[in-house]
Amino acid sequence: MGYQTLKCDLHIHTVFSDGHVWPDVRIWEAFREGLDAVAITDHLEYQPHKKYVDTVSNNAYELMKSTAEELNILLIKGVEVTRKMPPGHLNALFIENADLADDPDYEKTLQGLADQGAFIFWNHPGWIAQAKDGIRWYDEHTRLVEKNLIHGIEVGNYGEWYPEALGWCMEKNLTLSCNSDIHEPSDIYREYAGVKHRLVTLVFARERTLESIREALLDHRTAGWFEDTLMGQEKWLNELFLQSVTLSKPFNEMDRERFYYLSNSSDVSYTLHIENEADKSLAPERIFMPANSTILLSVKGQKGSVVPVSYIVENCFIRGRENLKITWNL
Ligand code: ZN
Repeated sequence: MGYQTLKCDLHIHTVFSDGHVWPDVRIWEAFREGLDAVAITDHLEYQPHKKYVDTVSNNAYELMKSTAEELNILLIKGVEVTRKMPPGHLNALFIENADLADDPDYEKTLQGLADQGAFIFWNHPGWIAQAKDGIRWYDEHTRLVEKNLIHGIEVGNYGEWYPEALGWCMEKNLTLSCNSDIHEPSDIYREYAGVKHRLVTLVFARERTLESIREALLDHRTAGWFEDTLMGQEKWLNELFLQSVTLSKPFNEMDRERFYYLSNSSDVSYTLHIENEADKSLAPERIFMPANSTILLSVKGQKGSVVPVSYIVENCFIRGRENLKITWNL
């Protein structure tokens, strides 16, 4: 659709807040994991290493900058505003000065960051520590959206994701993101979070630049990638699926059976089940397509009689728990 897919982690911590690694290590990790961009989002409210490091938040960014340039990782300057619920925690990206995010009145803090041109999203709305009775949307969030002080929601965080928050993004026209919120060294994070890969926000950008990422975030051009789960607007997931999975022409046609190759060139394994009961006699009821592999599909039916068959993609979510649907002529 004219965009490139950038792999971004928009929520990371270092020793400049309560993280456990020096800032430039985050760039090395991002490089080794194939990311395009990271946002540094240390917070001012909780800085347990203050006694040992000069935790002026802008310093973390400064310490990452040259490594980011060297390794060609796009580095977004951000800050996390960590307040009690509501409104909870929020990340502000593309800011000038992180150290101004310290007004005890959260709205004044957010307004100050918005005045710096920040893109702001609500972090981990279902985090158990702040959502003991379940995930919930508050009046405060409605007010912040109306005042243009919330532009998105973090639908996936650390080792979990929140279908309700995906629903809110679609209903309220907000940008979804999916991030690690990493505090530990990366391999230890993956072990603690129980994930094979870091949670990632896929950003559909015109170019591989900070300005293009900002533009894409404001235009809701994102999807979330959590293990084999993809979440996002139907148009983006549909396109991602079609770019990842190709169906060959039929071959080896016999009287009542023919074959297709289904190739999946992405790092996501897809699981599908057939939509209509009636099509089960024709095509497989379930299809599992492992990442980066090709499988053989056997389809019954008269020679030359190709019909549309719809499948539900179980690992792609477009609204709450609603799945993506795709149709092939088989
Ligand atoms: Zn955080």
